[in-house]
This record gives sequence, structure tokens and C-alpha cells, in this order.
Amino acid sequence: MHDFKYKNNELYCEAVKLSDIAKKVSTPFYLYSYNTLLGHFHKIEKAFKALKPIICYSMKANSNLSLCRALVQAGSGLDIVSGGELYKALLVGCQPKRIVYASVGKTEEEIRQAIAKQILFFNVESLPELELINKVAGDLGVTASVALRINPDVEPKTHSYITTGKLTNKFGIDFDTAYAILRRKDSLSHLRFNGLHIHIGSQIIQAQPYLLAIKKILGFIQKLKRNAIQIEYLNIGGGLGIIYNKEKPQTADEFAKKVIPLLKNTGLRIILEPGRFIAGNAGILAAKILYIKKTPLKNFVITDAGMNDLIRPSLYGAYHEILPVRLKTIERKPEAKYDVVGPICESGDFFAKDRHLKNIAEGDILAIMSAGAYGFSMASNYNCRLRPPEVMVKGNRFYLTRKRESYLDLVRKDVIPEFLK
Ligand code: PLP
Repeated sequence: MHDFKYKNNELYCEAVKLSDIAKKVSTPFYLYSYNTLLGHFHKIEKAFKALKPIICYSMKANSNLSLCRALVQAGSGLDIVSGGELYKALLVGCQPKRIVYASVGKTEEEIRQAIAKQILFFNVESLPELELINKVAGDLGVTASVALRINPDVEPKTHSYITTGKLTNKFGIDFDTAYAILRRKDSLSHLRFNGLHIHIGSQIIQAQPYLLAIKKILGFIQKLKRNAIQIEYLNIGGGLGIIYNKEKPQTADEFAKKVIPLLKNTGLRIILEPGRFIAGNAGILAAKILYIKKTPLKNFVITDAGMNDLIRPSLYGAYHEILPVRLKTIERKPEAKYDVVGPICESGDFFAKDRHLKNIAEGDILAIMSAGAYGFSMASNYNCRLRPPEVMVKGNRFYLTRKRESYLDLVRKDVIPEFLK
């Protein structure tokens, strides 16, 4: 599953001791395993080989430049959701024809930039957006490629905040509206309708909701065919779940075995957009225990990382395994239950509640596991905290891939008007 393992009571990432990295870069820091990252990408690639899909890694999971570059070098395309992600995608050398662009709120400027770069297509989420893309393409005197993101109204059985394929969600276009749009597609003369897209949610651990969504969209494609509307690409989105705790998510192989028969002889070009599956278990957040505080009712482990660094527990009540970087052989303290919290002025600032931890002490370093996806990419400067550095291990070496922020970074963009000087 990943390359974070104990050897002689020391936690290693591939062949590097986490405690050695901590000595060099100080805590907190994010750490990614190159081998795990690429391993997960190749797992999907191999599982879906029969469909020869374009795999567009979803940058929102983690847009660290080195991490994205490693994936692009391995043959990945990229799924983007903003002008910023487009900028980074091009910076890491992704060919525009391997970039797909979703988001319910693309601005005119973002649309213009993406058309100018000739990305593969926009995943369009509404009629007004479609009309704007048509207008911008007309202004530029070009034809823009689009896929309609369909909302298939399927319950993915995941957290409600990361459910995206129900009709109560803001995402995508319902079947009837999509049909009406495609019937009059020739009136949008600056658009080339290339495909359809679905993405029903994230951290989905069963195949059944996907299969239902795929079956629904294949039925829709049949209906379009009967009305002489051809679809070239079908983008089946991302959302594959990973193990954080005791989940038993389908493997890429199991998932592919169920999906391939549905898509094999359709003549459609398939796109996949996994994010979490590739990056999630390839990264950890390392944090130092600053204090162990006992109150009449609770034990708190207070770390030097906070919810600004990793917001998933606060936002979704997400579970992250927490491991000491050094296992102590001499039993000094019995196992006890702790809330593992950060220094931020919010009671929502926690990584774990009532977690059993054994033999821990102030100064110890903890690894907050499975933090490679939606970790750093959701980090902020809340409480004027500096975002942590990001490090990548490959084999027996480690590389700083993003520096720790400085106080100057915190104020770089602030402007104090003359009247306050
Ligand atoms: N594609 C789209 C359109 C998304 O919104 C997301 C995430 O929300 C993804 C792909 C990636 O999802 P995941 O990281 O669960 O694979």
C-alpha cells in the first residue's frame, strides 16, 4: 500500500529515516514517497490497460510541482479546476492536449487562457458556462472543445461534503438538460462537443455507485446515438477510495474488472481522473509533540502542526492513523487515550480524538499518515502560521520540493495605504 515502514523501531520512507529528515528540515513537514506515488499511478494504468485510457491525475489532490512532474513524466495527463492549476500544469510540462478542465465557476479570463493553450477540453457544468465558452472562443476566432459534465443523480455513499453526483449538488448537468443542449449544439457554433464527463464523489469505496453511474451514462449515449449525436470521449472521473483506517476499498484491479466489460466495446475513448488514489497514501505530515497536557477530563497531545496544515479531520471528521517516528523499546508510560491537537485557536483544531497512543513524550515526532491528498493543497496561513515544507524521498535520498514559508511570505502581498503610514 505504501513505502512508510518500520525498521529497527525507526519509521522509514523508502530507505530514509524520517527522524533524519526531521533533523534536517525541522517540523512540521510534508513527506512524499516517489515510489509509492508512481506505484499507485502504475496500478491504475495496469488495471485499466484494456481500455487504453488517458489518466489525468487530479491536481487538486496535491499540486506540488515535483509530485505533478513525476506523474507527468510517467505518462499522466492532468485534471485541473482553475487558472492556477492550468499555470502549474503547463509549468510541469504537461502537454495541453492531456489537460481536462472541470469546475462550476470558471471565470471568463480562465476560459480564455485555457482556450488559448488548446487544452483537450473543458468539462462544462452549466448552460451559461457553455454559452460563455462559445462566446470567448468566437472572440478568439477558434473552436473550443467541450465535454458536458453529467450529474447522473447517484448516491456514492461517501461524506456529504465530497458527494458530487446527486441532483442536490451544484455539479454537472442533468440528463434532460444535457439532451436539450446536445440537440441544439449546432447553434453553439464555436464549440466542438467532444464528450461526456461524470464524477460522482470522492473516497468512494464500493464499485456499485460507479457502475450505476456508468450504466446510466451509457444508456444516455445510446439515446444520443439514436438521434445521430456521436460522443468520442467518456470521462468517468476520479473518486476511488483509499485505506485511512479500517476501510476495505476495492482495489484498482477489482474496480477495473467490473468497469472494463461495460466500456470495452463502446468505441469510446476513456478518461480517468484519480487524485486521492494516487497521492493519498504516498504522503504523510510529520509533527513534533510540543506539550502533553492533562486536564481533569482529557489528555491532550499538542503538536506543532495544526488544522491549517491538514484540515481533513476538522472539515470532514476524517480519520488519519498517527504513528511515532521512533518506537521506544523501554516501556516508560502505559498506553493512554489522547486528543491529538494543534496550536490553533479553534476547538476544531484536531487530528484525532481519544486516540490510544503508547509511550509518547514531549519532543517526539509523530507521522500523521495518508496525508498526501487534500493535505498541503488545502493548507492555509490561518493564525499567521507558515505553511510547512514539502519533501520527497526517492530511494535512499530526500529532496526539498517546497521550502518552508517565511514571515516575509506572510506579508509579501499586503499593502498599507498612504494614510496609515
Ligand atoms: N475529478 C473531479 C471533477 C473532482 O471534482 C475530483 C475531486 O473532487 C476528482 C476528479 C478527484 O477525486 P479523487 O481525489 O477522489 O480521485
